[in-house]
Amino acid sequence: MKAVCWHGATDIRVDNVPDPKILNPRDAIVKITSTAICGSDLHLYDGYIPSMQSGDIMGHEFMGEIVELGSAVKNLSIGDRVVVPFTISCGSCYFCNKTLWSLCDNSNPNAFMAEALYGYSAAGLFGYSHIFGGYAGGQAEYARVPFADTGLFKIPDGLTDEQVLFLTDIFPTGYMAAENCNIKPGDCVAVWGCGPVGQFAIKSAFLLGAERVYAIDRVPERLKMAKEQAGATEVINYEEMDAGDALKELTGGRGPDACIDAVGMEAHGVGPDFLYDRVKQAVRLETDRPTALRQVIVACGKGGTVSLPGVYGGFLDKIPMGAAFNKGLTFKMGQTHVHRYLKPLLEHIQNGDIDPTFIITHTMSIDEAPKGYEIFKHKKDNCIKIVLKP
Ligand code: NAD
Ligand code: ZN
Repeated sequence: MKAVCWHGATDIRVDNVPDPKILNPRDAIVKITSTAICGSDLHLYDGYIPSMQSGDIMGHEFMGEIVELGSAVKNLSIGDRVVVPFTISCGSCYFCNKTLWSLCDNSNPNAFMAEALYGYSAAGLFGYSHIFGGYAGGQAEYARVPFADTGLFKIPDGLTDEQVLFLTDIFPTGYMAAENCNIKPGDCVAVWGCGPVGQFAIKSAFLLGAERVYAIDRVPERLKMAKEQAGATEVINYEEMDAGDALKELTGGRGPDACIDAVGMEAHGVGPDFLYDRVKQAVRLETDRPTALRQVIVACGKGGTVSLPGVYGGFLDKIPMGAAFNKGLTFKMGQTHVHRYLKPLLEHIQNGDIDPTFIITHTMSIDEAPKGYEIFKHKKDNCIKIVLKP
C-alpha cells in the first residue's frame, strides 16, 4: 500500500509498504478514505519529537471503512464506516475507567521509554514516534487499529467524511481545551494560535457559554477565519501590538478569565525571549520554545485558568511561575481524551451547532503529501487544514 513516511526532519515521502495485518484479536484493519495533516505532525516533520525512525508511517487523524476484524471484536462489522481516535485506549484500565483515555495504561508497548522521560507513560498514539508506541499512522491506504472495539466510532449515514473527520482529534482537542477553562456565563477567554486547534477552541468556548473570545495570531487569513467563521469577538495580531496589553484593555483592566495556548512547542515570537529559545533549542539546551506559554501565563487574569492543548515535549526555560503562583492560576493540559467527546460532539454536528468543514482549505491526493507538509508548515497558499485522500 501507499503510505506517507518520515525519513528525517522535513523529509517526508510517499512509499510503498506492506499492508497491515491483524496481530491481536481486538484489532481491526481500516481502509482509509480521508486523513488529515495536524499541527502535531509538524513537530515530527521539524524533528522535535525524539525516537522517530526512518520509514515510520505518519498520521493520526483518519477515518474509513472496516475491511477486517479480529475474532474478539463483536460490536462492529466489516463495512462499517468509522472514525479513529488518535489516542489508543484499552477501555478497561484504571485510567480508561476514569475516562482519562489518553492516559491508558495498556496501549504503549514502549512504556519504558516514556517512563524514563516522564515518570509514567501515557497512552500509545497513532503515527507519533516510538516513545508513544511506534504505531503505524493513518496517512496511508490502510491502518491497523488496536482495541478496535473501544476506539472505533461508527458514523451514521448522511454525513460526509469532511463533517466527521475532525472528531478524530482537533474538534475534541479544541473542545477539551475550552472545557478545561471551566467557563461560567459572562466569562472572557483568550486563545493563542488560530491554527485548526485554536479555531475549534474558539467555537467550543462559545458552545460552552463564553461571552467573549479573543484570538491571537499573526497570520492574516487565520485571524480572518477566527473572526468571520469561528466568531471571535476580537482578533489581535501580536506583530502589531502586545497581546497582553491589548487583552488588558479589552477586559477593562481585569484580564481574561481563561487563556488557551493552542500554539505549543514551536511558537514564533517577536521579543528577545524568542531569540533566546531559538538559540537554546538549536544547541539542544532546551527542547521546546514556550514563547506563547509565557505570554499566556502573564496575560491571564487573577484566579484564572491556563489551558494547554498545544503540545509540549520536554524541558522549558524561564516559565514565569511567580506570575502563575501569585495570581492563583489553575493549569489544565494534556493529550485529548478523544473517546469521551465522540458522541457529544457528533451530536453537535448533527444538530447543526457547528460545521467542522469550515476549517478545510486544501484537499489533496496522498501522493501530494510531501507538498502538503511543506505548504502547511510555511502557511503558503493560505493553507490552514489539509485533507488527504488515499
Ligand atoms: P498550527 O501549527 O496550524 O497552529 C499554530 C498556530 O499558532 C499558527 O497559526 C501560528 O501562526 C500560531 N502562533 C505561533 N506562535 C504564536 C504566538 N507566539 N502567539 C500566538 N500565535 C502563535 O497547529 P494546530 O493544528 O492548530 O495545533 C496547535 C497545537 O495543538 C500544536 O502544538 C499541536 O501539536 C497541538 N495539538 C494538541 C493536541 C492534544 O491532544 N492536546 C491535539 C492536536 C494538536
Ligand atoms: Zn492531530
